[in-house]
Amino acid sequence: MGQRRAGHVNRCPNCRVNRFFCVCENLRPLEIETKISLIVHVRELKLTSNTAQFAEKMLPQNAEIFIRGRVHEPFTSEPVLKRMGLPLFLYPHEDAQELNEDFKTKFPGPYHLIIPDGNWQQARKVRQREEGFSHLMAVKLPGMITSEYGLRKALHPEWVCTYEAMAHALGILESLAVRDRLMDFFRIWVKSTEQARSGDFKKISLDNNP
Ligand SMILES: [Zn+2]
Repeated sequence: MGQRRAGHVNRCPNCRVNRFFCVCENLRPLEIETKISLIVHVRELKLTSNTAQFAEKMLPQNAEIFIRGRVHEPFTSEPVLKRMGLPLFLYPHEDAQELNEDFKTKFPGPYHLIIPDGNWQQARKVRQREEGFSHLMAVKLPGMITSEYGLRKALHPEWVCTYEAMAHALGILESLAVRDRLMDFFRIWVKSTEQARSGDFKKISLDNNP
């Protein structure tokens, strides 16, 4: 305990939000058809602002995190590519196809969505850098989706975070109900984290009584 920073002590070990704002009761897992593989750098995984962790918690039957950047356990794409479903690499590469109804008609499921995590630049390199991914079909979200994630600054509003990208892609590949369930949790988590970060625990009750 002595090694940990003071801020960590009061964090819920599961959602990693301050206990006072813990969002665990809002984590209500659902089951879908699509398999999800999140390719996460080991450094990213440690950050409380990383959203990939909630993909696993909301979709425990479907989502799996695969870690890159470990010194003693080099990443290999094999276990990722072994998973069932048509593999789709979610990143707006130049050759990416837009996810929409036409796409689903042309390429019927079930799908296996592979999502590179990290900031925009890091994620961009994953397909070319990791052997086995370069030949995969890249897919992108329709243009009108914008991010609701204020915890990290993005240069462009359409640069959605990993969890949002997953939720919106599943909104097309699965159903809007799946997207809404995932995004409902996400909005609660963002709000709670913002409040915990503000450090002002009285703020909530004082808001209505200025
Ligand atoms: Zn919690």
